[in-house]
Amino acid sequence: MFQRILIANRGEIALRVIRAAREMGIETVAVFSEADRGAHYLSLADEAICIGPAPASESYLKIDRIISAAEIGNVQAIHPGYGFLSENSHFAEVCRSSNIEFIGPPHEAMAKVGDKVSARELAMKAKVPVVPGSDGLVTEENAAVALANKIGYPVLIKATAGGGGKGMRVVRNDIALKAGLKAAAQEADKAFKNAGVYLEKYIERPRHVEVQVLGDQQGNLLHLWERDCSMQRRHQKLVEESPAPNLPTNVRRNICDAAVRLCKTAGYYSAGTCEFLVDQDNNFYFIEVNARIQVEHPVTELVTNLDLIKQQIRVAAGESLDIRQKAVPQIGSAIEVRINAEDPDNDYRPSPGRITKLRVPGGPGVRWDSHVHEGYIVGPNYDSLIGKLIVHRDSRNESIKTMRRALAEFDVEGIRTTIPLLRKILAHPDFADGRVDTTFVERTWSGK
Ligand code: ADP
Repeated sequence: MFQRILIANRGEIALRVIRAAREMGIETVAVFSEADRGAHYLSLADEAICIGPAPASESYLKIDRIISAAEIGNVQAIHPGYGFLSENSHFAEVCRSSNIEFIGPPHEAMAKVGDKVSARELAMKAKVPVVPGSDGLVTEENAAVALANKIGYPVLIKATAGGGGKGMRVVRNDIALKAGLKAAAQEADKAFKNAGVYLEKYIERPRHVEVQVLGDQQGNLLHLWERDCSMQRRHQKLVEESPAPNLPTNVRRNICDAAVRLCKTAGYYSAGTCEFLVDQDNNFYFIEVNARIQVEHPVTELVTNLDLIKQQIRVAAGESLDIRQKAVPQIGSAIEVRINAEDPDNDYRPSPGRITKLRVPGGPGVRWDSHVHEGYIVGPNYDSLIGKLIVHRDSRNESIKTMRRALAEFDVEGIRTTIPLLRKILAHPDFADGRVDTTFVERTWSGK
């Protein structure tokens, strides 16, 4: 096992990894940018090393500085967290060629699933249904128009390198498609430095259901059941839960099997997620793989009673999984809400500032994963996630009651947050009935 690892990330996920490592008797080296200097969670690591100025491109995304920090810190492995360099197969390769283990999948598998078009091709090879769409990138306008008419409008133009809900646009006719293709390619080039776009049929009112997988280097690969992440705003997840409500047993089984098939075909190990859309008739379609730990991993941890970060570390050190598929439980119901520093009265723009008051909920069934505290300054440089509130109860009904109670207890001042919207979602009868789809939030509150 490793004696010392570096965490190439910040905030709540950095703290999550520090905690797991501490419990495993592994020392940690944290890295930080000038903007995070002095953050409290850094003092919980065994060492903290500054890697540059506030902009991520000058610090958390700088491969050479992170590798230097790993050398100075004398670590055997790097945990990338999520975001930043976590899905950069080049970074994974650089780590390994510098004799530092990358706590994540093999870089060859990451490269295969990393871009959406090649992931689609892989899914087809694994006989996993994909959303009807183009065979590869669309490069020619007339061919795109012909294809869109064949699959039928509305059609979604998607960036192959897209992420975080960005790089997608819905078009409903030929004229909009032609205009959209150019604009989408330009936007994708600017945002992801990759102008490649492709077409997918736009599924009306789908649910977002994803499957957690976990594999070792000996070729064992399991699914750890599904999560429903249909409560979204602008394609960004707000609420995640496991099990997915009202998902027929055979669909759950088929979707989990499909995820395992796909990841085995990719030669995948470590933790990963296969995302699917489920239409109103319970047909499911693969959309993408996230080759890393996800923000919403705690809901899976609670229903399976497994620590995914510890599992990732063990697998990276070469240990084989000590659980069998049949023995992976799905106990009770877990729900997570993402608490972001965003202003509900200003189109959910980031709301940086000092947290002047913070009282977080607790009590039975409640978990709070966060690096913030009273006096913490939420800066303007990074993601606006300030914490994840997760509940676990015997049934979904009980989880909803606990989450409502926990959200009611939450008291934060100095910054604006998504808590009022989360309270509204949890109070809504359609949510309680599990009548969920990815358009629910915007349809119900028109984005307000
Ligand atoms: P990202 O990598 O940006 O997260 P995804 O491909 O995972 O992009 O899609 C994010 C969300 O966008 C999905 O959860 C869903 O809400 C919506 N979406 C993606 N593809 C489609 C589609 N073909 N039809 C309808 N909605 C879609």
